[in-house]
Amino acid sequence: LINEPFSARGHWRELFGAPADATIHVELGPGKGGFICEIAKQNPDVLYVGIEKVPDVLVMAMERALSAGVTNVRFIRGDAALLAEYFEPGEFSRLYINFCDPWHKNRQAKRRLTHRNFLRLYAPLLGVGGDIHFKTDNRPLFDFSLIEFEACEYGLTEVSFDLHAEDAPWNIVTEYERTFSAKGYKINRLVATVLSKTLDKPAQ
Ligand code: SAH
Repeated sequence: LINEPFSARGHWRELFGAPADATIHVELGPGKGGFICEIAKQNPDVLYVGIEKVPDVLVMAMERALSAGVTNVRFIRGDAALLAEYFEPGEFSRLYINFCDPWHKNRQAKRRLTHRNFLRLYAPLLGVGGDIHFKTDNRPLFDFSLIEFEACEYGLTEVSFDLHAEDAPWNIVTEYERTFSAKGYKINRLVATVLSKTLDKPAQ
């Protein structure tokens, strides 16, 4: 657990004791941490930072990281909205958003982690060529997100409305993904890449 994430800004690689050119990937809302621990195990040279706002699940994620024996994962108890206070522009190159809260009421749209205000926050931190890997079981949220990514001029690839119907042996199933797909919900996924035109977009 990184207790003072604001002082970590610009110093993540030092904190990990990693080389200056090490790759950093971030997950927003890792929940119980199954995904981040597994992907960290598969990619020991990549550094992973999970940002989770609920302390109880965060503890479960940290316990899981310990028992999995992974040393390339750190956690922040914090808020995705503060991402630019935790990282400087270009400090990480991939963002995972798995099964974020859908906030289904229109008046709550700005809380969705794929709302354009968030997408504009993420882009400079990722830098050109950086990407967002997004999965959700919630089709209305996915449709909303497609519009938001396009409005912010991210480059969309690997758009799937039924990931589990495809041959995707690399897919790491998250806790929510297991629960919702068992209930019959299809899993949607996309990859959104920051292009130079994404960064040219005005802040609002
Ligand atoms: N990714 C996990 C959990 C999904 S539930 C999985 O797929 O199983 C969404 C998670 O995001 C919850 O753990 C919630 O506490 C966390 N979360 C929601 N809003 C957040 C925010 N603004 N910043 C950080 N974490 C957030």
